[in-house]
Amino acid sequence: MTLSRLNGRHAFRGAILSVGSDPAADPGAIRYDPDGLLVVDDGIIVARGSYADLAPRFGAVPVERLHGLIVPGFVDAHIHYPQMDSIAAYGEQLLDWLDRHIFPAEMAFADPVHAQTVAGLFCDELLRNGTTSALVFATVHAQSVDALFEAAMARTMRIVGGKVLMDLGPPGLCDTVETARDETEALIAKWRGRGRLGYAITPRFALTSSDAQLAMAGDMLARHDHVLLHTHLSENTRECAAVTARFSQARDYLDAYDRFGLVGARSVFAHGIHLSSRECARLADAGAGIAVCPSSNLFLGSGMFDFAHAAEHGVRLGLGSDIGAGTTFSLLHTAGLAYQVGQASGYRLDPFRALWLATAGSAGLLHIADRVGALGEGQEADFVVLDPSATPVLARRTAGANLFDTLFALQVLGDDRTVSRTYVMGRCAWDRDSARFDDKESQ
Ligand SMILES: [Zn+2]
Repeated sequence: MTLSRLNGRHAFRGAILSVGSDPAADPGAIRYDPDGLLVVDDGIIVARGSYADLAPRFGAVPVERLHGLIVPGFVDAHIHYPQMDSIAAYGEQLLDWLDRHIFPAEMAFADPVHAQTVAGLFCDELLRNGTTSALVFATVHAQSVDALFEAAMARTMRIVGGKVLMDLGPPGLCDTVETARDETEALIAKWRGRGRLGYAITPRFALTSSDAQLAMAGDMLARHDHVLLHTHLSENTRECAAVTARFSQARDYLDAYDRFGLVGARSVFAHGIHLSSRECARLADAGAGIAVCPSSNLFLGSGMFDFAHAAEHGVRLGLGSDIGAGTTFSLLHTAGLAYQVGQASGYRLDPFRALWLATAGSAGLLHIADRVGALGEGQEADFVVLDPSATPVLARRTAGANLFDTLFALQVLGDDRTVSRTYVMGRCAWDRDSARFDDKESQ
């Protein structure tokens, strides 16, 4: 039995970095212990600091030495598990891509066995990329949520997800106002308080739900104060034009949701590329968040997120892979793409802020920042060990480099190869060098 599998108190020694809040607002949010100790008791961090300071207090605790850079487990603020087999689908932009590639793939989730198979592979792929929490789209089928939550529970992962609402969807992938409400209510009742799971009411986007269904979603959001609202906003120009045409009374795309009570502090909107100043101001005022998804936006040609515009209005942000429009599960690599998207508009995303987006920033959007994302005392011990020597180029680029340059190189050049281990609640859930996942506690 390795130390990481022990229940009870144990500790990890290594270089530990976290960014607990937006460093653009608070440079003191960057916390770095070059020779640090993380003391974990039954999955909860009970102490963190320099090894020299903590070793005398915890001398009797078994210590596991970890080589590389320890950072909080990544939190993916927007991803679709049923689309993992549709990554790299050629040729289309958003609306045609959905019709041609995505809707057929999602229809297969009517089969619960298929859903279970993909959900297990999906959770393993998250762990392999260092992602320990995520806000996840399932499909319109209620059992697709069961499959996701069962797979997450078997791996003790902190996952938030929900059944897709789409009563204007294509044949075979369409619910009604009533079935959407009944199935969502049943799923909330079934999964509430189980494992580390959370629920998100999940209308696909404005165009795939009727006004009556959007109103029903707003009603459920108001009645369940512990659930999130998860949907898409202002991704593609053709989509935006169609929203303007249908919701002619709305001031803009965001207002089409706002009119149904869907814009609040528990709302997470993916993309937000083509937002007006009024929409940014309203998002900030409501405390709603945007999941920035640069690899998806580049892949579908949707556009580039405007970091400066969002910052000007104080919009809350997180980072999402948006698999399967996204091209990588790695939030490390996604952070590097976010930097490149920022560059296109003259915005410099520094690597500490990018790390914050991928960890505590996203955790804030998911309302789990008290539990994960900063490796603080009292938080759950979800963390990743990054290997700055994972590839020959990375090894040369980071040799002798300072923390800033090392972290930046990890984001620009890193991906799943760079994640040497992923820990969930203090247990090693993925070990690259033995290429194994930890035994699941249950299935
Ligand atoms: Zn999406």
